[in-house]
Amino acid sequence: QAKARGRNGFSFYAPSMTGEGVERLRLETFLRRSIEKEEIFLNYQPQVEIDTGRLVGVEALVRWNHPELGLIPPIRFIPLAEDTGFINQLGKWVLHEACRQMVRWQEAGLHVPKIAVNLSAKQFERGSIVNMVADILHDTGLEPERLQLEVTESVIMNTGDAMVFINDLHSIGVALAIDDFGTGYSSLAYLKQLPVQTLKIDRSFIKDISTDVNDEAIAIAIIQLGKSMNLSVIAEGVETEEQAAFLLRHGCNLAQGYFYSRPLAADDMLSRWQK
Ligand code: C2E
Ligand code: MG
Ligand code: MG
Ligand code: MG
Repeated sequence: QAKARGRNGFSFYAPSMTGEGVERLRLETFLRRSIEKEEIFLNYQPQVEIDTGRLVGVEALVRWNHPELGLIPPIRFIPLAEDTGFINQLGKWVLHEACRQMVRWQEAGLHVPKIAVNLSAKQFERGSIVNMVADILHDTGLEPERLQLEVTESVIMNTGDAMVFINDLHSIGVALAIDDFGTGYSSLAYLKQLPVQTLKIDRSFIKDISTDVNDEAIAIAIIQLGKSMNLSVIAEGVETEEQAAFLLRHGCNLAQGYFYSRPLAADDMLSRWQK
Protein backbone atom coordinates (compact mmCIF):
# COMPACT_ATOMS: atom_id res chain seq x y z
CA GLN A 1 0.00 0.00 0.00
CA ALA A 2 1.49 3.32 -1.02
CA LYS A 3 2.20 5.76 1.75
CA ALA A 4 1.01 9.27 1.06
CA ARG A 5 3.49 11.75 2.39
CA GLY A 6 3.17 15.46 2.92
CA ARG A 7 5.78 17.92 1.76
CA ASN A 8 7.74 17.60 4.98
CA GLY A 9 8.01 13.90 4.58
CA PHE A 10 5.65 12.82 7.31
CA SER A 11 2.50 10.93 6.72
CA PHE A 12 -0.56 13.17 6.67
CA TYR A 13 -3.04 10.46 7.43
CA ALA A 14 -3.26 8.25 10.43
CA PRO A 15 -2.57 4.53 9.98
CA SER A 16 -6.16 3.98 11.00
CA MET A 17 -7.36 5.79 7.90
CA THR A 18 -10.38 4.04 6.50
CA GLY A 19 -10.65 2.47 3.09
CA GLU A 20 -12.96 5.28 2.19
CA GLY A 21 -10.30 7.85 3.06
CA VAL A 22 -7.72 6.05 0.96
CA GLU A 23 -10.17 5.90 -1.91
CA ARG A 24 -10.78 9.61 -1.60
CA LEU A 25 -7.07 10.37 -1.66
CA ARG A 26 -6.65 8.25 -4.74
CA LEU A 27 -9.52 10.06 -6.44
CA GLU A 28 -8.02 13.41 -5.49
CA THR A 29 -4.71 12.46 -7.00
CA PHE A 30 -6.35 11.33 -10.22
CA LEU A 31 -8.57 14.41 -10.33
CA ARG A 32 -5.65 16.79 -10.11
CA ARG A 33 -4.31 15.42 -13.39
CA SER A 34 -7.64 14.91 -15.12
CA ILE A 35 -7.57 18.08 -17.21
CA GLU A 36 -4.08 17.64 -18.60
CA LYS A 37 -4.88 13.98 -19.32
CA GLU A 38 -7.93 15.14 -21.28
CA GLU A 39 -10.31 13.06 -19.21
CA ILE A 40 -12.64 16.01 -18.57
CA PHE A 41 -15.30 16.96 -21.10
CA LEU A 42 -18.67 18.62 -21.28
CA ASN A 43 -22.15 17.45 -22.09
CA TYR A 44 -24.86 19.86 -23.08
CA GLN A 45 -28.49 19.59 -22.09
CA PRO A 46 -30.98 21.42 -24.31
CA GLN A 47 -33.36 23.95 -22.81
CA VAL A 48 -36.54 24.33 -24.81
CA GLU A 49 -39.66 26.38 -25.14
CA ILE A 50 -42.48 24.02 -24.14
CA ASP A 51 -45.15 25.21 -26.57
CA THR A 52 -42.95 25.31 -29.68
CA GLY A 53 -40.16 22.84 -28.85
CA ARG A 54 -37.70 25.52 -29.95
CA LEU A 55 -34.14 25.37 -28.60
CA VAL A 56 -33.50 28.36 -26.33
CA GLY A 57 -30.20 27.30 -24.81
CA VAL A 58 -28.11 24.53 -23.31
CA GLU A 59 -26.65 23.86 -19.89
CA ALA A 60 -23.03 22.73 -19.86
CA LEU A 61 -22.50 19.77 -17.51
CA VAL A 62 -19.02 18.58 -16.67
CA ARG A 63 -18.02 14.92 -17.09
CA TRP A 64 -14.97 12.99 -15.94
CA ASN A 65 -14.04 9.78 -17.68
CA HIS A 66 -11.16 8.04 -15.92
CA PRO A 67 -9.48 5.18 -17.85
CA GLU A 68 -9.71 2.78 -14.89
CA LEU A 69 -12.59 4.11 -12.83
CA GLY A 70 -14.86 4.89 -15.75
CA LEU A 71 -17.35 7.73 -15.85
CA ILE A 72 -17.49 9.49 -12.48
CA PRO A 73 -20.57 11.67 -11.86
CA PRO A 74 -20.13 15.34 -10.89
CA ILE A 75 -21.81 14.78 -7.51
CA ARG A 76 -18.76 12.65 -6.66
CA PHE A 77 -15.96 14.84 -7.96
CA ILE A 78 -17.26 18.42 -7.70
CA PRO A 79 -17.25 18.34 -3.87
CA LEU A 80 -13.75 16.87 -3.99
CA ALA A 81 -12.61 19.57 -6.40
CA GLU A 82 -14.11 22.16 -4.05
CA ASP A 83 -12.32 20.76 -1.00
CA THR A 84 -8.95 20.67 -2.71
CA GLY A 85 -9.16 23.99 -4.50
CA PHE A 86 -8.97 22.27 -7.87
CA ILE A 87 -12.40 23.75 -8.61
CA ASN A 88 -10.81 27.02 -9.68
CA GLN A 89 -8.83 25.35 -12.42
CA LEU A 90 -11.74 23.10 -13.34
CA GLY A 91 -14.26 25.92 -13.36
CA LYS A 92 -12.06 27.98 -15.64
CA TRP A 93 -11.60 25.04 -18.00
CA VAL A 94 -15.36 24.41 -18.10
CA LEU A 95 -16.15 28.04 -18.82
CA HIS A 96 -13.58 28.26 -21.57
CA GLU A 97 -14.67 25.03 -23.20
CA ALA A 98 -18.35 25.99 -23.00
CA CYS A 99 -17.77 29.36 -24.66
CA ARG A 100 -15.52 27.86 -27.32
CA GLN A 101 -18.13 25.22 -28.10
CA MET A 102 -20.76 27.88 -28.72
CA VAL A 103 -18.50 29.39 -31.36
CA ARG A 104 -17.77 25.95 -32.90
CA TRP A 105 -21.50 25.23 -33.21
CA GLN A 106 -22.04 28.64 -34.74
CA GLU A 107 -19.33 27.92 -37.32
CA ALA A 108 -20.94 24.57 -38.07
CA GLY A 109 -24.26 26.30 -38.70
CA LEU A 110 -26.01 25.62 -35.40
CA HIS A 111 -27.14 28.68 -33.51
CA VAL A 112 -27.54 27.93 -29.81
CA PRO A 113 -28.99 31.13 -28.32
CA LYS A 114 -27.27 30.78 -24.97
CA ILE A 115 -25.17 28.55 -22.75
CA ALA A 116 -25.58 28.13 -19.01
CA VAL A 117 -22.53 27.26 -16.92
CA ASN A 118 -22.61 26.23 -13.25
CA LEU A 119 -20.48 28.09 -10.75
CA SER A 120 -19.38 26.75 -7.39
CA ALA A 121 -19.33 28.87 -4.22
CA LYS A 122 -15.60 28.20 -3.92
CA GLN A 123 -15.01 30.05 -7.17
CA PHE A 124 -16.07 33.23 -5.40
CA GLU A 125 -13.77 32.82 -2.44
CA ARG A 126 -10.63 34.17 -4.05
CA GLY A 127 -12.29 37.35 -5.13
CA SER A 128 -14.14 38.47 -8.18
CA ILE A 129 -14.04 36.17 -11.19
CA VAL A 130 -15.11 38.95 -13.52
CA ASN A 131 -11.65 39.28 -15.11
CA MET A 132 -11.42 35.56 -15.74
CA VAL A 133 -14.87 35.57 -17.36
CA ALA A 134 -14.13 38.68 -19.41
CA ASP A 135 -10.84 37.16 -20.64
CA ILE A 136 -12.58 33.98 -21.74
CA LEU A 137 -15.30 35.91 -23.56
CA HIS A 138 -12.69 38.01 -25.28
CA ASP A 139 -10.56 34.99 -26.14
CA THR A 140 -13.42 32.96 -27.60
CA GLY A 141 -15.38 35.84 -29.10
CA LEU A 142 -18.65 34.78 -27.49
CA GLU A 143 -21.07 37.63 -26.84
CA PRO A 144 -21.51 38.11 -23.06
CA GLU A 145 -25.31 38.04 -23.35
CA ARG A 146 -25.09 34.47 -24.61
CA LEU A 147 -23.41 33.27 -21.43
CA GLN A 148 -25.57 32.59 -18.39
CA LEU A 149 -23.91 31.73 -15.11
CA GLU A 150 -25.84 29.52 -12.69
CA VAL A 151 -25.44 29.98 -8.97
CA THR A 152 -27.45 28.42 -6.15
CA GLU A 153 -29.18 30.33 -3.39
CA SER A 154 -26.58 29.21 -0.87
CA VAL A 155 -23.78 30.65 -2.99
CA ILE A 156 -25.49 34.00 -2.88
CA MET A 157 -26.46 33.90 0.77
CA ASN A 158 -23.32 32.34 2.26
CA THR A 159 -20.55 33.91 0.25
CA GLY A 160 -19.50 37.22 1.70
CA ASP A 161 -18.98 39.29 -1.41
CA ALA A 162 -21.17 37.30 -3.76
CA MET A 163 -23.51 40.24 -4.28
CA VAL A 164 -20.62 42.44 -5.36
CA PHE A 165 -19.18 39.76 -7.64
CA ILE A 166 -22.56 39.07 -9.21
CA ASN A 167 -22.95 42.75 -9.90
CA ASP A 168 -19.49 42.75 -11.50
CA LEU A 169 -20.54 39.94 -13.80
CA HIS A 170 -23.75 41.72 -14.64
CA SER A 171 -21.79 44.83 -15.52
CA ILE A 172 -19.96 43.01 -18.32
CA GLY A 173 -23.26 41.81 -19.77
CA VAL A 174 -23.28 38.21 -18.57
CA ALA A 175 -26.68 36.73 -17.63
CA LEU A 176 -27.35 35.07 -14.28
CA ALA A 177 -29.67 32.31 -13.14
CA ILE A 178 -30.47 30.95 -9.70
CA ASP A 179 -30.11 27.19 -9.87
CA ASP A 180 -32.10 24.65 -7.81
CA PHE A 181 -34.39 27.47 -6.77
CA GLY A 182 -36.51 26.66 -3.74
CA THR A 183 -34.12 24.17 -2.15
CA GLY A 184 -31.85 26.62 -0.38
CA TYR A 185 -32.94 29.57 1.60
CA SER A 186 -32.99 32.89 -0.08
CA SER A 187 -34.22 36.20 1.09
CA LEU A 188 -36.69 37.76 -1.28
CA ALA A 189 -35.22 41.13 -0.39
CA TYR A 190 -31.88 39.90 -1.73
CA LEU A 191 -33.48 38.49 -4.81
CA LYS A 192 -35.01 41.87 -5.56
CA GLN A 193 -31.59 43.53 -5.51
CA LEU A 194 -29.81 40.95 -7.59
CA PRO A 195 -29.33 41.42 -11.31
CA VAL A 196 -30.68 37.94 -11.99
CA GLN A 197 -32.73 37.12 -15.09
CA THR A 198 -33.74 33.53 -14.49
CA LEU A 199 -35.03 31.20 -11.79
CA LYS A 200 -34.57 27.47 -12.28
CA ILE A 201 -37.22 25.46 -10.43
CA ASP A 202 -35.42 22.58 -8.76
CA ARG A 203 -36.23 19.19 -10.17
CA SER A 204 -37.33 17.85 -6.77
CA PHE A 205 -40.49 19.98 -7.09
CA ILE A 206 -41.11 18.91 -10.68
CA LYS A 207 -40.83 15.20 -9.97
CA ASP A 208 -44.24 14.75 -8.31
CA ILE A 209 -45.82 17.89 -9.66
CA SER A 210 -49.11 16.28 -10.62
CA THR A 211 -49.46 14.01 -7.57
CA ASP A 212 -48.04 15.94 -4.62
CA VAL A 213 -50.10 19.00 -3.70
CA ASN A 214 -47.19 20.61 -1.86
CA ASP A 215 -44.80 20.32 -4.79
CA GLU A 216 -47.54 21.61 -7.02
CA ALA A 217 -48.07 24.61 -4.77
CA ILE A 218 -44.34 25.35 -4.60
CA ALA A 219 -43.90 25.16 -8.35
CA ILE A 220 -46.85 27.47 -8.94
CA ALA A 221 -45.56 29.90 -6.32
CA ILE A 222 -42.11 30.05 -7.97
CA ILE A 223 -43.68 30.64 -11.39
CA GLN A 224 -45.79 33.47 -9.95
CA LEU A 225 -42.84 34.96 -8.10
CA GLY A 226 -40.78 34.96 -11.27
CA LYS A 227 -43.60 36.54 -13.24
CA SER A 228 -44.17 39.32 -10.76
CA MET A 229 -40.44 40.08 -10.60
CA ASN A 230 -40.10 39.99 -14.36
CA LEU A 231 -37.78 37.00 -14.32
CA SER A 232 -37.86 34.08 -16.66
CA VAL A 233 -38.58 30.76 -15.03
CA ILE A 234 -37.31 27.42 -16.30
CA ALA A 235 -38.20 24.02 -14.86
CA GLU A 236 -35.43 21.44 -14.53
CA GLY A 237 -35.86 17.68 -14.51
CA VAL A 238 -38.93 17.57 -16.75
CA GLU A 239 -39.36 13.88 -17.56
CA THR A 240 -42.95 13.54 -18.72
CA GLU A 241 -45.46 15.16 -21.00
CA GLU A 242 -47.80 15.63 -18.03
CA GLN A 243 -45.19 17.69 -16.21
CA ALA A 244 -44.64 19.84 -19.29
CA ALA A 245 -48.38 20.34 -19.74
CA PHE A 246 -48.75 21.30 -16.08
CA LEU A 247 -45.99 23.88 -16.38
CA LEU A 248 -47.40 25.40 -19.52
CA ARG A 249 -50.85 25.56 -17.95
CA HIS A 250 -49.41 27.50 -15.04
CA GLY A 251 -47.43 29.95 -17.11
CA CYS A 252 -43.97 28.38 -17.29
CA ASN A 253 -42.94 27.92 -20.91
CA LEU A 254 -39.30 26.89 -20.46
CA ALA A 255 -38.04 23.44 -19.59
CA GLN A 256 -35.03 21.22 -19.40
CA GLY A 257 -35.13 17.49 -18.75
CA TYR A 258 -35.04 13.94 -20.04
CA PHE A 259 -38.46 14.36 -21.66
CA TYR A 260 -36.80 16.70 -24.15
CA SER A 261 -33.25 15.42 -24.11
CA ARG A 262 -30.57 13.94 -21.93
CA PRO A 263 -27.31 15.87 -21.77
CA LEU A 264 -25.59 15.37 -25.15
CA ALA A 265 -22.06 15.30 -26.51
CA ALA A 266 -21.19 18.39 -28.57
CA ASP A 267 -21.45 16.48 -31.86
CA ASP A 268 -24.80 14.99 -30.93
CA MET A 269 -26.11 18.50 -30.40
CA LEU A 270 -25.25 19.10 -34.05
CA SER A 271 -26.97 16.01 -35.39
CA ARG A 272 -30.01 16.57 -33.20
CA TRP A 273 -30.54 20.31 -33.72
CA GLN A 274 -28.79 21.36 -36.93
CA LYS A 275 -31.33 21.96 -39.67
P1 C2E B 1 -27.58 21.02 -11.81
O1 C2E B 1 -26.81 22.22 -12.20
O2 C2E B 1 -28.86 21.24 -11.11
O3 C2E B 1 -27.78 20.21 -13.16
C1 C2E B 1 -28.90 19.44 -13.48
C2 C2E B 1 -28.67 17.99 -13.21
O4 C2E B 1 -29.88 17.28 -13.42
C3 C2E B 1 -27.65 17.33 -14.17
O5 C2E B 1 -26.99 16.28 -13.46
C4 C2E B 1 -28.57 16.72 -15.23
O6 C2E B 1 -27.98 15.66 -15.94
C5 C2E B 1 -29.70 16.26 -14.37
N1 C2E B 1 -30.95 16.14 -15.11
C6 C2E B 1 -31.37 16.85 -16.17
N2 C2E B 1 -32.59 16.50 -16.57
C7 C2E B 1 -32.98 15.52 -15.75
C8 C2E B 1 -34.18 14.73 -15.65
O7 C2E B 1 -35.13 14.87 -16.42
N3 C2E B 1 -34.22 13.82 -14.64
C9 C2E B 1 -33.19 13.63 -13.77
N4 C2E B 1 -33.33 12.69 -12.83
N5 C2E B 1 -32.05 14.36 -13.83
C10 C2E B 1 -31.96 15.29 -14.81
P2 C2E B 1 -25.41 16.11 -13.50
O8 C2E B 1 -24.90 16.41 -14.87
O9 C2E B 1 -25.10 14.80 -12.87
O10 C2E B 1 -24.92 17.28 -12.56
C11 C2E B 1 -25.23 17.29 -11.19
C12 C2E B 1 -24.81 18.58 -10.55
O11 C2E B 1 -23.40 18.73 -10.59
C13 C2E B 1 -25.35 19.83 -11.24
O12 C2E B 1 -26.69 20.06 -10.87
C14 C2E B 1 -24.39 20.87 -10.73
O13 C2E B 1 -24.75 21.28 -9.44
C15 C2E B 1 -23.10 20.09 -10.66
N6 C2E B 1 -22.32 20.39 -11.87
C16 C2E B 1 -22.38 19.82 -13.09
N7 C2E B 1 -21.48 20.41 -13.93
C17 C2E B 1 -20.85 21.36 -13.21
C18 C2E B 1 -19.81 22.30 -13.50
O14 C2E B 1 -19.31 22.43 -14.63
N8 C2E B 1 -19.39 23.12 -12.48
C19 C2E B 1 -19.96 23.05 -11.22
N9 C2E B 1 -19.50 23.88 -10.27
N10 C2E B 1 -20.94 22.18 -10.93
C20 C2E B 1 -21.38 21.35 -11.91
MG1 MG C 1 -27.24 23.92 -13.10
MG1 MG D 1 -30.15 22.72 -11.20
MG1 MG E 1 -30.64 20.48 -9.38
